[in-house]
Amino acid sequence: MQYDVNQDGYYGDFGGAFIPEMLYANVEELRLRYMGILKDDGFKNDFKQLLRDYVGRPTPLFHASRLSDKYGRQVFLKREDLSHTGAHKINNTVGQILIAKRLGKRRIIAETGAGQHGVATATVCALMGLECIVYMGDTDVKRQQPNVLKMKMLGASVVTVESGNKTLKDATNEAIRDWINHPEDTHYIIGSVVGPHPYPDLVTRLQAVIGEEISWQIREQTGKDVPDCIIACVGGGSNAMGAFYPFLDNESVRMIGVEAAGKGIDTDETAATLACGRPGIIHGSKTMLMQDDDGQIIEPYSISAGLDYPGIGPVHSYLHITGRVEYYSVTDEQALEAALELTRLEGIIPAMETAHALAILGKIETGPDDVLVVNLSGRGDKDMETYIKAFENEQD
Ligand SMILES: *Cc1c(COP(=O)(O)O)cnc(C)c1O
Repeated sequence: MQYDVNQDGYYGDFGGAFIPEMLYANVEELRLRYMGILKDDGFKNDFKQLLRDYVGRPTPLFHASRLSDKYGRQVFLKREDLSHTGAHKINNTVGQILIAKRLGKRRIIAETGAGQHGVATATVCALMGLECIVYMGDTDVKRQQPNVLKMKMLGASVVTVESGNKTLKDATNEAIRDWINHPEDTHYIIGSVVGPHPYPDLVTRLQAVIGEEISWQIREQTGKDVPDCIIACVGGGSNAMGAFYPFLDNESVRMIGVEAAGKGIDTDETAATLACGRPGIIHGSKTMLMQDDDGQIIEPYSISAGLDYPGIGPVHSYLHITGRVEYYSVTDEQALEAALELTRLEGIIPAMETAHALAILGKIETGPDDVLVVNLSGRGDKDMETYIKAFENEQD
């Protein structure tokens, strides 16, 4: 397909595998084996069965009628929030744990921001009886306590990371360091379409189940062959790629990715990588990156721990530069408003990350009969403290 990764692991100029020598054997093993495993019937059956009986797939596609009335078009919500553990992250961790077992690994490591990927990884490790170590920045440990407690109950070791601004980037650095020190028995389950090749492609293919379901569900519910527009929030970009992937070659499907602007893209407190970044290398791949004139990474900021990342998956840098996907950014405040709006109109409390995607509904022009799908990437349980604080302040 036109937008797939090429033989060398690149999307146009972006991607690749910029890794230290010590990681070469691990990454190369995965690169040589992943497509074979993904295409193997035994793997496909195991993956399908766990997605159905454990994760709860297919997740519903819900016609949000009050939201549709408000915006004057047909809005459907892809309910990833109803997946086991509350977000799309579990699709990827189920797939990767099955791969890790086939590679003969016994020890699993992961990084996490909001804790959703950490919980999803700890969950599949409990399911498979594998050791699990999750790296998490101290800032995130403090703002995402319920997820920290879940990981511990699931039997994972949570390692608090004190470097940088103690969020996702710093946790990822530590996870990579761990992997370098354990080249034999450890598989690193990366939580998004980031990192060295083949991770961006691997995670895309595991999450593509989201878009595959949207494809038949939209036909069933609307009679249309494809939706007119698909909207998703973008941190690293895995829920967006999952929803977009099966439709990328069909140019009649408009696609919108929404980044976190934090306090605004003209401030120092933002995480809108495509709006503010330049090409650079982070965590093993070449992609757009928020950096200063000397190439030092600028610490990102977003109210949402899952979007608080200075890079973005290389495939999104490519889809941005080619114009295939439109990218917008949304501030903390706009996201908070959108979260409250969905809660009051449809009785669904979305994750703070997801609220960024919802906030775009009032900002884009589409036809009145257009069918829009918003990927509802996760539920808001983990964000209740943030929400309560924000809405209390509003009433003062
Ligand atoms: C982790 C997370 C995100 C951001 O990650 P992507 O890889 O960009 O999808 C978005 N929404 C939720 C609910 C998350 O947990």
